Parts: sequence; C-alpha cells; structure tokens
Amino acid sequence: MATDFHAHRPKSAARTLVSCGAEELSRYPLASLELHPWKLPEQFVPLPRAFRETLNGAAALGEIGLDRLRGPALPVQQRYLEELLALAAELHKPVVVHCVRATEELLGARRRFPELRMLFHGFRGKPERLARLREHGFFISLGVAALNDVVLVEYLRSSGLGGIGFETDEVPEPIESVLGFAAEKLHIPCGELEARTDETFRNFCFSE
Ligand SMILES: [Zn+2]
Repeated sequence: MATDFHAHRPKSAARTLVSCGAEELSRYPLASLELHPWKLPEQFVPLPRAFRETLNGAAALGEIGLDRLRGPALPVQQRYLEELLALAAELHKPVVVHCVRATEELLGARRRFPELRMLFHGFRGKPERLARLREHGFFISLGVAALNDVVLVEYLRSSGLGGIGFETDEVPEPIESVLGFAAEKLHIPCGELEARTDETFRNFCFSE
C-alpha cells in the first residue's frame, strides 16, 4: 500500500498521516495532532493540559515548527517548539515538522531531543541542506515541487532513498500519482519505491 507521509485530508485509500486539529483526530486511522506555527499566538502561553491528553491519543505530533516568514516572532515559535518536542519525547510520539528559513534554529532544537523521530515535511532546497538534515537523523518527505528540481533529483539518485518519503500536502492528486512521478524521475520501478517508502514510514511512525 502506498504511503502519504503528510496531508491535511486523505486523497485516496493509501495509508495517510493526516495532520489535523484535536476535533478531527478521531476521524482518521492515522492522525497527527497539529499546532501549526502560523496559528500560534503572538505571545507564548503554556499548552493547555488537555493538549497532552489529546496528543496521547494521536499517532504523531505535527505539523509543528518554525517559519521565519509567517506567524509570531521567531523566539515565540522556538519556545513553543521546545515545549512541544519535550512533550513528544515524553509521550514517545513521532513529530512532523514545518520549517521555513529556520534550519539552524531547528537543528539547535533537534540536538536537545536526539531520541525523537522527526519528519521534515515539504522539503525544498539544495542537496547540501537535505544531506545536513539526514545527518541529524531527520526523515524527509518530498512533494511534487522537489521532484521538479533537477539538481535535487540527481542527488537523490546517487545518495539513495534512506529516510525519504513522499507527500501530497496541498496538491489535490493522490499519493499514487506522486509516487508514479517520483519513480519516473528517480528511475526506480514504482512498486519498489512504494515498498521502500512504506518501510521508511514504518520506521518513522511505529518504531520506538
Ligand atoms: Zn501541511
């Protein structure tokens, strides 16, 4: 079965890690409790007690993260990130991360929680950055935009697909189409890519 590493609603019968709010969690077999950096308040307010309980019933935490271009001031976002990562570590939950122009800050936080399984979702950028995230133990999920990046695709062909998954996030197409496109770009049979990424997802979501 194909795996969609990150979406906000399922787009096919594929295994999908759906990122949503508390009120939607029970709708999906694999739901990730979201506290998007764009939606954070201007000032840090401690997480409500109910958040912990809700997270306990979710498959994962996220998307959470850092965004230098949107949301409250970066230090406020960082404070939330620290609190959330500590909670995920305590409850042994994997974490889906959104990160825009704050890689160094993210890696700084990551170093304090080396045991956490973390997925950097919607990666775009240079191979060097991807390699750096891998060195720090991140799983990475890619969408169509990344697959249209010739340099990145070339890098993935030579580096292999360790820790790599695919996602639909905002695109309407199902993950089966994204995987088909990825298989073509990466010169791998689609079935093999599907099996590889299924295994990567198991390691991200279900290994402890
Ligand atoms: Zn998203």
